[in-house]
Amino acid sequence: MESVYFKYMVKNKKVLIIGAGIAGLSSAIRMAVKGYDVHLFEASDRVGGKLHQFYLDDYRFDAGPSLFTMPQYVTDLFRLANKNPEDYFEYEKLEVVCNYFWEDGTKLSTFADHRKNVEEIAEKLSEKIDDVEKHFKDSALKYELTGKTFLEYTLHSLKTWMTKDVFKALTQIHKLDVFGTMHGVNARRFQNPKTVQLFDRYATYNGSNPYKAPGMLNIIPHFEYGFGAFIPKNGMSDISQSIYQLGLDLGVKYHFNTKVDQIIKCRDTVQGIKTLSGESIEGDIVISNMDAYFTYLHLLDQRKEADKVLRQERSSSALIFYWGINKSFAELDLHNIFFANDYQHEFDCISKGSISDDPTLYINITSKYVDKDAPEGKENWFTMINVPYNQGQDWDQLIEQSRQNILGKLSQILKTEIAPLIECEEILDPRSIESKTMSYTGSLYGTSSNTKWAAFARHPNQSPQYGNLYFVGGSVHPGGGVPLCLLSSKIVDDLIHEK
Ligand SMILES: Cc1cc2nc3c(=O)[nH]c(=O)nc-3n(C[C@H](O)[C@H](O)[C@H](O)COP(=O)(O)OP(=O)(O)OC[C@H]3O[C@@H](n4cnc5c(N)ncnc54)[C@H](O)[C@@H]3O)c2cc1C
Repeated sequence: MESVYFKYMVKNKKVLIIGAGIAGLSSAIRMAVKGYDVHLFEASDRVGGKLHQFYLDDYRFDAGPSLFTMPQYVTDLFRLANKNPEDYFEYEKLEVVCNYFWEDGTKLSTFADHRKNVEEIAEKLSEKIDDVEKHFKDSALKYELTGKTFLEYTLHSLKTWMTKDVFKALTQIHKLDVFGTMHGVNARRFQNPKTVQLFDRYATYNGSNPYKAPGMLNIIPHFEYGFGAFIPKNGMSDISQSIYQLGLDLGVKYHFNTKVDQIIKCRDTVQGIKTLSGESIEGDIVISNMDAYFTYLHLLDQRKEADKVLRQERSSSALIFYWGINKSFAELDLHNIFFANDYQHEFDCISKGSISDDPTLYINITSKYVDKDAPEGKENWFTMINVPYNQGQDWDQLIEQSRQNILGKLSQILKTEIAPLIECEEILDPRSIESKTMSYTGSLYGTSSNTKWAAFARHPNQSPQYGNLYFVGGSVHPGGGVPLCLLSSKIVDDLIHEK
């Protein structure tokens, strides 16, 4: 809790936030709790950016994120504001984390229960229990050694590096698998290529390629199994809705349908913003939740700085078919993966800007847990494949081809013709992701982690040029995904507060 003196000091200070993505919303809470006069400007008419919902006939869909991990980063916001999180936001832990299917008939489920999970993977994929155990232990160790430093602090301050945690991590650097690829590490550990595929898939959690990304990314399973996978009681969009509601209660002033057109600069500080309609608003602090590339290009008019952001490879994008399905499938759960036969080929295609004829499919069905998301006996399928970011491909042709391939694969594995079951459909592709959320090239997670230096190359949370300009969200440190975006707002809070 801040002192009365601090609150008095900031009471008349204005914070301007650009974008109501998850990081912009959480930044607003953190600043309002500190006592600032907070104004948030959002170009669209809705809350949440990529994390929003929509309806198609009688079906509800979460538009973007579907996997919810690290719920404590959400509930922390309510606690910071001295509120009871449960008054705003409820969620439950998943017992079955994900169902996996291969075309040869192999199936397995992964579980929250550690013993059950390890035994299922070992039994179904003929692996040694010890190898599976070791993989999860190594994942937890990577988090223990690096999690706090790399995810919770700025990497651009000497203070972050002068700690016991960093010293400990350096003495055990050989355990971090920084130098080999994720696939290389997994292929050495496991006998069965399916187990390698199962664990390689975690690279896609931040839009990366397991054949290029460092073995360090094997930290990701720990988020899902060490901390758990969850579902909000009313679906994913409840995360952004509940934080928005908290902001209203704390006095945050939201300005929807208000696109910011310019950040007003004056020597080494910024003085406020200008909206598309020409209104200038002065502020003491500006926080951009807009993609860092677009912030430089459009709001700061600094092409050279924008180009610097592009030195790092963009993360992959996604093609999503939202389908209202006139049937219920007992073998499916909330999260379902249908693996490609040739995983490397799938990533080679993505690297070349194309889509494999046999992509790995992900189906998310929230109506398995939230009854009202689909009519009785029916299901809301969020069917997604990983695709390259937008480089001007012929998307209409790629979408048509992929739709046929997806339907063929699903019909074969589920032994049911899927096409006649589709009652309604909406499609999201890299072009629409870019136009709807202003994420450059439609990347889901800003930049990829395909090199071992990726964490260091990501844009910092404070502008190197303007002392009172900050950056949050998936395109900056610590990276994309809901938990990391929430942490970016914590880092900015700390940076401002330290001053
Ligand atoms: C299909 C899909 C699936 C995903 N799956 C997962 C998942 O399962 N789990 C997970 O953790 N993450 C997932 N992600 C990633 C996750 O959604 C993002 O990392 C995260 O939501 C990005 O949040 P953000 O704070 O960067 O803001 P964004 O969601 O990118 O929102 C930015 C906001 O800023 C607004 N804006 C931009 N420019 C301006 C301007 N000039 N003026 C005013 N407003 C502006 C935009 O309208 C938008 O509302 C997925 C993303 C997508 C698209």
